[in-house]
Amino acid sequence: MVYNKKMKRLYIHVPFCVKKCLYCDFYSITDNSLIDDYIKAVIRNIPDMKFDTLYFGGGTPSLLTASQIAAIIEAANPTTTAEISMECNPQSSGLEYFREIRKAGVNRLSIGIQSLHDETLRKLGRLHDSDTAVKTVYDAYEAGFENISADIMLGVSDTRDSAKLCKLPLKHISAYMLKVEKNTPFYSMENLNLPDEDSVCDAYLEAVETFRENGFMQYEISNFAKAGYECKHNLGYWECEEYIGIGPSAHSYSGGKRFAVPREINAFIEADTQPTYITDENPGGIDERLMLGLRLMQKGVVCNKNVDRYVKAELLRKQGDTIFLTPKGALVSNSIITDLVY
Ligand code: SF4
Repeated sequence: MVYNKKMKRLYIHVPFCVKKCLYCDFYSITDNSLIDDYIKAVIRNIPDMKFDTLYFGGGTPSLLTASQIAAIIEAANPTTTAEISMECNPQSSGLEYFREIRKAGVNRLSIGIQSLHDETLRKLGRLHDSDTAVKTVYDAYEAGFENISADIMLGVSDTRDSAKLCKLPLKHISAYMLKVEKNTPFYSMENLNLPDEDSVCDAYLEAVETFRENGFMQYEISNFAKAGYECKHNLGYWECEEYIGIGPSAHSYSGGKRFAVPREINAFIEADTQPTYITDENPGGIDERLMLGLRLMQKGVVCNKNVDRYVKAELLRKQGDTIFLTPKGALVSNSIITDLVY
């Protein structure tokens, strides 16, 4: 893989979890004895560049110690104003840990709450309960984090968390719809008792409205932020910027091609340079730009096609030649994009 030296964004995939959640398709393992070797491999793969954003995703990055996080940040050499985000799970973090990683340089937390309803959390196979999730947000706040995000999942049960979530000291919320992926225990489980499609759509529209009333602007289909707290790192993906991903299963967009690292930790640890394979020889085509551009709800994309039927159905809005998805349109964005591209 050729590094584009102008890249500003670095993603580190931390492939360790305490236990696999029943719905999860991300690459992670539960053998944490490999963490030290993994850290060495990450550090030797970080190119000698300056980054504006650094994102620890996973897996469960909060399984790394604060000194391991500090060592990676030091190797990444971020700019003094860089956004340094880290995903963490309620069961593997706490006030002291948050103080330490803040000292190490992390300045944005993304907490995997998923639900504020104990039965729903059990159904997902999560290890924390609702009280722990709430306490984790307050611990992060008390430790001095100002830029805190929470992930929640819609479409698991009929409970609604958005109003409760808005009372927490958050600046950002990511609300994803549950997708039952092949190769997960969820896929073969009977009696999952998931809500039907109509109630999932209602839950999404209700969440969008509650977030808006509480000052969280919808800047992307699944992402909501108080003014000025949009995730800069993820904005780079949607704006089709190039970036580097390090770690097994991480993706990169560099030198005009997209790459992935195989989902295999031993291969990553053993190689001097992480192995990669090309996933897209020629990215950035019209369909991709339209898809990514439309995801950014306030930015939209220029489109000269006749979209009157979508505007009439309140799925799109139009300003001059620029079209924007409405929250209702976000629910059917794939079919709108397919129609506009082909
Ligand atoms: S959902 Fe997160 S915590 Fe659960 S197994 Fe997947 S990566 Fe790990």
